[in-house]
Amino acid sequence: MKRCDRSAPRDWVDNAVRLIDADSQRSADTHLLRYPLPPEWGVQLYLKDESTHPTGSLKHRLARSLFLYAICNGWVTEGTTVVEASSGSTAISEAYFAKMLGLDFVAVVPAKTSPEKLALIEAQGGRCHLVERAPDIYAEAARLAAETGGHYMDQFTNAERATDWRGNNNIAESIFQQMELETHPVPDWVVVGAGTGGTGATIGRYLRYKRHATRLAVVDPENSAFYGGYELGDLGFETGMPSRIEGIGRPRVEPSFVPTVVD
Ligand SMILES: *Cc1c(COP(=O)(O)O)cnc(C)c1O
Repeated sequence: MKRCDRSAPRDWVDNAVRLIDADSQRSADTHLLRYPLPPEWGVQLYLKDESTHPTGSLKHRLARSLFLYAICNGWVTEGTTVVEASSGSTAISEAYFAKMLGLDFVAVVPAKTSPEKLALIEAQGGRCHLVERAPDIYAEAARLAAETGGHYMDQFTNAERATDWRGNNNIAESIFQQMELETHPVPDWVVVGAGTGGTGATIGRYLRYKRHATRLAVVDPENSAFYGGYELGDLGFETGMPSRIEGIGRPRVEPSFVPTVVD
């Protein structure tokens, strides 16, 4: 019987964590932009621009957290092939981190994904594995990881867990720090879309933890399952249909969606 070695040397892991931290250390925070509205509305609107990361992908923060979580759990180590179910921004950012760590990366994507998107994943050193039916990407990614002895990153389950919700420069802490010197430093509302649900979960938890009166609104596009699941209180709710909006809206209520923190 083959036994697992549970106490392998940690040199690779130490270096991988250092490389990810160094990437973060070199980077500035993303901008919180003011968006002028007619003064008679009496509303101040701010936009958090998550696109100003090295890859230009909105999911850089998420990919960093997912890699750190997987490495610190001992799921990813030297030579692990990383597999993800993603048709877009997450795969681009994960391919970037995989390359930085010298790991192979496979994105399992719906066959209808645009060639431009696939090219962006490949430009970061990732490989794309096409699946005919979009709802099959999850099972196919898990199968591929098992077959290759790789690791299925599973952003839709782990986004909510991999992010430090109490701070550590998560997106909520960043927004509130950037608001500090504004006329109204505590917003009435934070509005966010849901892809994994992780950003909503992080912000909603942070609001309670910091005792801010701010409420959280999640915007869900047509055909997406989050709204139905929220309204019916049914986390198993599915529409099975794709959303027309890139990055948000899902055919099922993803495990990272936490409806109890959504106002
Ligand atoms: C990913 C994404 C979000 C929020 O994502 P979560 O995965 O729910 O944290 C919001 N808007 C856009 C455009 C996105 O790509």
